[in-house]
Amino acid sequence: MATALALARRGMRSRVFEKAPEFGEIGYGIQQGPNAYRMLDWLGVMKDLEPQAVFTRNLILIDALTDRELTRISCGDTFRAQFRAPYTVVHRRDLHGALLEACRKREEIALHTSKEFVSFTERGKNVVASFADGSEYEGIALIGADGLRSRMREILIGDGAPRPIGHVSYRGVVPFDQVKDQSHFDDMVIWVGPNLHFVQYRLRGGTVMNNVATVASGRFERGERRDYGGPDELAEVFSHTTPHVQEMLGYVGKDKNWVLHDREPRPGWTRGNVTLLGDAAHPTVQYLAQGACMAIEDAVVLSGVLKKAGSEVNAALLAYEKERYLRTARVTITSRIFGDIIHANGGARDLRNHLLAQRSPDTFWEIDWLYRGIEV
Ligand SMILES: Cc1cc2nc3c(=O)[nH]c(=O)nc-3n(C[C@H](O)[C@H](O)[C@H](O)COP(=O)(O)OP(=O)(O)OC[C@H]3O[C@@H](n4cnc5c(N)ncnc54)[C@H](O)[C@@H]3O)c2cc1C
Repeated sequence: MATALALARRGMRSRVFEKAPEFGEIGYGIQQGPNAYRMLDWLGVMKDLEPQAVFTRNLILIDALTDRELTRISCGDTFRAQFRAPYTVVHRRDLHGALLEACRKREEIALHTSKEFVSFTERGKNVVASFADGSEYEGIALIGADGLRSRMREILIGDGAPRPIGHVSYRGVVPFDQVKDQSHFDDMVIWVGPNLHFVQYRLRGGTVMNNVATVASGRFERGERRDYGGPDELAEVFSHTTPHVQEMLGYVGKDKNWVLHDREPRPGWTRGNVTLLGDAAHPTVQYLAQGACMAIEDAVVLSGVLKKAGSEVNAALLAYEKERYLRTARVTITSRIFGDIIHANGGARDLRNHLLAQRSPDTFWEIDWLYRGIEV
């Protein structure tokens, strides 16, 4: 939908095909770095989204074994001046709803549900997409934004299933008045410990608290690849954390979890007038909170090159891929490294804590390349 909006903003028509019977999102939070805020603002959705968004004051790292703060990034005036936007967190349904409403208002965009993409063929300079219900649609370009297990990627690249990294997340949203420790009002806090972390931030004008607990599974590491990271392993890994952190485990649901995957970054997402976007092209684990932000940046870049290209669609798609490849690869690789840092144990944990203690809250060099974002 971000891609359709970006194309419409530049005067181009598109159709969005979703395999589900309705456009919708699951009910958890999503963080938007300033790089994504600026893109969403350009797409015209921030005005609708802002009343629901929480403007994060600080990004805080706390040691889950001691409850001691390790470091923080202040998202105040210096941050906003440097990155030309604030850091915000929103409910996925609010973000999705704002995008959907904006799409519905544009006559350049047609929205189709219950359309499962199956395959494509080339017809002259055009592409014909075929769907499971037997329907076909023809256009000048086809963009596969079909997520982690992309059918379009299977056809274009065929590099198999995404790679499980052995980490599992549990999520939960609870009313804010049920949260015992309310000291981190408008902060995004990560409690970090050996093979675990816990993320917490408020949503929906501060009325609810979003919680994510993640474990790096020892069972997976030992080669026990079936049924790893279940609620019993979650409880076992968190059993070394402070009573406060263990109590927060009560805020996440145990009946459903997310097994985390990414892929080795690689180019080659474009063939003819067909390309990939978002997780289909460059899935990442969420440790920089940038998977969706990258998809939104992709959308803006792609619309820009297509606008300039005229009838040279293939050249435009190749230029888009070239512009996005190494930036998104850096997000994928840095997210893995960040995972190793937050899950550190023993001497690595001691060194991390020592180095982080020397940072100032207005130090941004680690994320400067990321949050400065792209130009429209
Ligand atoms: C626990 C967790 C926390 C995260 N937190 C953050 C965060 O804070 N910030 C952030 O930026 N990112 C975050 N992410 C990553 C983010 O959720 C993804 O990167 C993002 O959703 C990718 O968007 P996408 O549009 O590429 O794919 P998706 O969101 O997966 O959307 C793909 C769509 O395509 C549809 N589809 C699939 N196959 C077909 C087909 N054959 N035909 C038609 N339609 C099809 C699907 O139904 C779906 O609607 C997090 C991820 C996880 C797991």
